[in-house]
Amino acid sequence: STFDEMGIRDDLLRGIYAYGFEKPSAIQQRAVLPIIKGRDVIAQAQSGTGKTSMIALTVCQMVDTSSREVQALILSPTRELAAQTEKVILAIGDFINIQAHACIGGKSVGEDIRKLEYGVHVVSGTPGRVCDMIKRRTLRTRAIKLLVLDESDEMLSRGFKDQIYDVYRYLPPELQDVMKDTAALHLLVASLLTVGIWEESSAY
Ligand code: AMP
Repeated sequence: STFDEMGIRDDLLRGIYAYGFEKPSAIQQRAVLPIIKGRDVIAQAQSGTGKTSMIALTVCQMVDTSSREVQALILSPTRELAAQTEKVILAIGDFINIQAHACIGGKSVGEDIRKLEYGVHVVSGTPGRVCDMIKRRTLRTRAIKLLVLDESDEMLSRGFKDQIYDVYRYLPPELQDVMKDTAALHLLVASLLTVGIWEESSAY
């Protein structure tokens, strides 16, 4: 199968080809279409299989760039992974003028505030800093329609569980309801061992 057959918007296709991809990897073939169609997907993939690119592609496809609200939130266990994901999103989404920001610990809070107030479509971050930005009301969650938990098993083993719950809790009330209906808030858990966290979070 090809990227052309996946229902990806034209200006995003240009970005994908310009980035040097010719055809989708196995995980991209299996995961992108269902997510775009609004299903929740748990994708199991080793690193190096195109997982980060799959996330970037999906996020770019789902974001409405005519609005400057945060519509996709990606949580990752490490600063490096969060920054890498932001980088791939900016590269693939170049032709759709995507605005993305990496919210990661150890970097300037002032820069986070500046970027978020300017307006971005996508935030890729580590749970602690993302939580902090949500609590400051700098990161607005009301327009989020895609939540990605990348390497969620790794996030759990690093003790990010409370912060991930916090992120859920700070979603606006209407979104919390939406999250009971997982078909409405698109959730992509790009990792193994995810069932526990999702079952518990559904209790909100
Ligand atoms: P990822 O797991 O997304 O970090 O991808 C691992 C490596 O494979 C990176 O160097 C990507 O640029 C590359 N890659 C990912 N998807 C594709 C694809 N569809 N075609 C060619 N290379 C890819």
